[in-house]
Amino acid sequence: MTHPISFVSLGPGEPELITVKGLKQLQQADIIYCPATRNKQGTSLSRAADIVRALEIDETAIHCFMLPMSKDRTEAWKVYDTLYYEAADRYRNGQRIVIVAEGDAGFYSSIQYIYDKFTKAGIAVQRTAGIPAFIAAGALAGLHIVKQEEEIVVIPGTPSADELSEKINAGYVIVIMKLSQCVEAVYECIRRHPQAQFHYFENVGTDKEYYTSDKQIITQKSFPYFSLMIIQAV
Ligand code: SAH
Repeated sequence: MTHPISFVSLGPGEPELITVKGLKQLQQADIIYCPATRNKQGTSLSRAADIVRALEIDETAIHCFMLPMSKDRTEAWKVYDTLYYEAADRYRNGQRIVIVAEGDAGFYSSIQYIYDKFTKAGIAVQRTAGIPAFIAAGALAGLHIVKQEEEIVVIPGTPSADELSEKINAGYVIVIMKLSQCVEAVYECIRRHPQAQFHYFENVGTDKEYYTSDKQIITQKSFPYFSLMIIQAV
């Protein structure tokens, strides 16, 4: 008997923010694949595995795979392909396989690449939804993220200052993911739009969690990978 390969969304970082359904999947798993990265000192870090461990899941089920962080994704696709073949073998042997992702596994989540590959190969998959980081960020700051007739746009850290300005002028609520990639554009827009509110978040749901809407502090900060921004063009 085979079991669908289960993609479980872990939520933003705080272990309790996983869903009950996701937790059950972890508890029943024979193997849980967690993405990890290496820091400059060569130490392996896995925020995903930390969340799983905090949920008191059997340590022997946890299996980290190393994702290169470079912008060129070629190496990452190779890692995903290796994971795909290994998981497909285990699937055929009847194991219960879970692959985890932080936040929601279908929201700026490259792991969906393997999900699509399983689907194409006729391997059964399922995905459990999770709380994306920007929703957890809104709760942390007590924001009414969008209200009444407002519209929201979620963008990766790709805009120039002009492109971001245009969206602020259009009155959108803007969520910027991967904020570390557009530091200068954000600084410039803070200067150009004194009426707008800029909510800055980093490491939401972890013990390094940080929030400020103080423009002066924001423009003196460097933005780490796990940071995002919500802009409200009041
Ligand atoms: N699947 C995730 C998004 C992954 S893309 C989700 O649903 O939220 C990676 C980006 O998400 C990071 O660059 C950062 O902008 C944001 N992010 C993820 N976790 C975060 C956290 N705990 N705190 C702040 N930003 C976070």
